[in-house]
Amino acid sequence: MKKINLLVLLFLTFPALASLSVSNVAIPGGIAVIDFHTNHANPKAFYGNVPVYTQRIKDSHWQALVGIPLLAKIGKKQIIIKDFSERKIDFTVKDYTYQEQHITLTGNKKKYVNPNLAHMDKIKRERPILSIARRTFSTQEFNNQSFIRPVSGITTSPFGFKRFYNGEPRRPHTGLDYAGKIGTAIQAAAAGKVIVSGEFFFNGNAIFIDHGQGLISVYIHMNERIAKLGQIVKQGDIIGTIGQTGRATGSHLHFGVYLNQTVINPNILIKGASKL
Ligand SMILES: [Zn+2]
Repeated sequence: MKKINLLVLLFLTFPALASLSVSNVAIPGGIAVIDFHTNHANPKAFYGNVPVYTQRIKDSHWQALVGIPLLAKIGKKQIIIKDFSERKIDFTVKDYTYQEQHITLTGNKKKYVNPNLAHMDKIKRERPILSIARRTFSTQEFNNQSFIRPVSGITTSPFGFKRFYNGEPRRPHTGLDYAGKIGTAIQAAAAGKVIVSGEFFFNGNAIFIDHGQGLISVYIHMNERIAKLGQIVKQGDIIGTIGQTGRATGSHLHFGVYLNQTVINPNILIKGASKL
């Protein structure tokens, strides 16, 4: 009994560390969790030339969280740690096979398979906005230990499916689709800052939230955008509602997460979710 009381006291005395609790899922579309030690107060990590999310776990124990591209080759990779000097740490990307999904778009939605010139103009104008947002690497800190599901609906399309639209291969599914009626409230998966709130050709009404250090969540095909550009949101805040704007075959939320400019399976960060 005494032991339990002491543990409770210790827990209350030392506030919980604001580190993300992440499982090592070192597959394409996953996150490699790489432990390292340093006495430097602010070590940096890079994967290629891209800065990587780092977090202090305890004392000199740190972690680098590396998003692995869906199309990454299997095998040995490395990150560079820069603290008082520079060193390399190896890690291994393991194989994983995602399933195929065939989608038929008809009527007005056909334009999303082969967009016309006017649509191509819009797509080209939007590209830099989306690209800058995905490349954001901010140093602001938010006290997130895990993500929550942004809506409660069932997952209708898992992450990573190899997709074919009307028989034509397109890029794999870069997020999770949750079913839901138009107008259903969408919550911020974690605390952060709104860095995109706009209407786009493929994404429809979309919001991007920056959680710091290249970790960004995206909410796509929304009916209504509630959160405003530049707004700081808490985990669970209502940021918009479910819709079917853009390239969407029915009303649903497409939820995506970027880490070091790479789409990763959001379930790896969602508390209680099965990791694949
Ligand atoms: Zn989707």
